[in-house]
Amino acid sequence: MAEVVIIGAGLTGLSSAYWLEKNNFFDYKIFEKQDRPGGLLRSEQHDGFTFDHTGHLLHINDPSFYDFLNEIAAIEDFNLITRQSGIYSNNVVTEYPFQMNLHGLPTDVIAECIEGYVTRNQAMRKPKSFYEWVLKYFGKGMGEHFFFPYNSKILSYNLKKVHPSWNGRFVPSTTLKAIIDGTLQPAAHTKIGYNSSFYYPKQGGIEFIVKKLVAYLKNPVQTGYGVSHIDTTDKIVYFDNGQQERYKHLVTTMPLNRLLTTIKTPSRSSINQAADKLLCNAVININIGFSGPIDTNKHWLYFPERTYPFYRLGFWHTICPSSVPTGHSALYSELSYLPGRTTQAQAYKRADLARKQVLDFVHMTADDIVAQKILHLDNAYVIYDAWREKNLVGILQHLHGLQIHSIGRYGEWKYSSMQDAYNDGKKVAMELMQVYNTSSPTIVPAQLAPAPSAGSIIRSTEKIIRRVT
Ligand SMILES: Cc1cc2nc3c(=O)[nH]c(=O)nc-3n(C[C@H](O)[C@H](O)[C@H](O)COP(=O)(O)OP(=O)(O)OC[C@H]3O[C@@H](n4cnc5c(N)ncnc54)[C@H](O)[C@@H]3O)c2cc1C
Repeated sequence: MAEVVIIGAGLTGLSSAYWLEKNNFFDYKIFEKQDRPGGLLRSEQHDGFTFDHTGHLLHINDPSFYDFLNEIAAIEDFNLITRQSGIYSNNVVTEYPFQMNLHGLPTDVIAECIEGYVTRNQAMRKPKSFYEWVLKYFGKGMGEHFFFPYNSKILSYNLKKVHPSWNGRFVPSTTLKAIIDGTLQPAAHTKIGYNSSFYYPKQGGIEFIVKKLVAYLKNPVQTGYGVSHIDTTDKIVYFDNGQQERYKHLVTTMPLNRLLTTIKTPSRSSINQAADKLLCNAVININIGFSGPIDTNKHWLYFPERTYPFYRLGFWHTICPSSVPTGHSALYSELSYLPGRTTQAQAYKRADLARKQVLDFVHMTADDIVAQKILHLDNAYVIYDAWREKNLVGILQHLHGLQIHSIGRYGEWKYSSMQDAYNDGKKVAMELMQVYNTSSPTIVPAQLAPAPSAGSIIRSTEKIIRRVT
């Protein structure tokens, strides 16, 4: 029995654990299905190269997240890097973001983008879809030359059925002046957007954070524990390995659709039906290491055109030189598909084509390849369709009523970053601490308490819990 059981040791679950411990609360257990913690923040060491489960760059604008990284590691363990990214279309690389860096594109493309912007439907009251949202704020030309094909590729879904809230906060706005400046001058606007600079660990890939955090925590992460089902009446989690655990509060970061199918409750049928309606795509992440250099200073490039099945190409050696052996280079490309509509076999066929195109693009041949790792992200981008919009809040509230806190990118079925994952974990831990502080005022916030030893904290917390229960 643990007062709090955390499912999943990705960044969200680990952040929950961190914030519980920060509040001197140790009566929790954290379980992970895989053989090591990290979730999407795992890095694979392969033939001298380090490949993440696709590019994971730290965009920090919350001082709390910065302090957290500085506490579990040291901020000097990270490089702060100014983004060098671009968009490849019409046989040229233009600067990101597209909507204010048209310089270099063919004249007719520029004309269509500017005309579309000037004649955009500003009067549209409430865009009903992401497609309409683009028409309202950027116009048809930019839609057709960038936003529509790029976002269709990243989501593998019809943008007319995607809610406008998808991705909106991450898309920089533009003005006519910015568009014209960015047409007349090369690289007129480069330091724009939430990701204009980023941090990345100097060594070890993005998993460096996970390793530091797990080492920092007092309680262990128990790996090899995949949830098979949950009894919400008796509050017991059952695991695939035959073990079980009682809980008072369940914090879960596993994908919401999977969570719903594991719940055994009287209202099961309606909740289980919901699981099938929640849509999320998958990503195939192709990592290739080369014996020689690639001639680019870019960290990544966006590929909006439909002739390329992949939507992005990133360069490991420019993001982090230590992730490749000296004199070598490495890249990753990403392509998405929607399981249920496209089979995995079909997706891998497209990945094969993508791989060939990537080699041509960087002027490499199969003989130059010295390492390759193809990774599959079972859950990548949640689809913000009408069903999600209508039902998600109700589902999460229902679970909350059962003392199940479903949080994180897939627990809350949303588009979010590592910083968001950190904050999701922090938020739930603070909410739980309020519950415990109310019922047991002797558990005080860490900063107000004298510094007792970990052992005495565990013993006294257990005593308090026993008294309360
Ligand atoms: C393609 C892509 C690119 C991204 N790039 C960036 C980026 O550049 N910068 C950025 O800030 N963010 C990026 N993100 C977002 C970032 O990866 C997520 O916000 C973050 O990793 C979410 O962490 P999480 O713990 O919520 O989920 P996860 O990392 O998915 O962790 C969930 C954990 O639960 C475990 N689990 C699942 N099912 C079970 C079960 N049945 N029983 C027990 N455990 C289970 C999983 O194994 C996993 O360890 C990207 C995401 C994707 C998909």
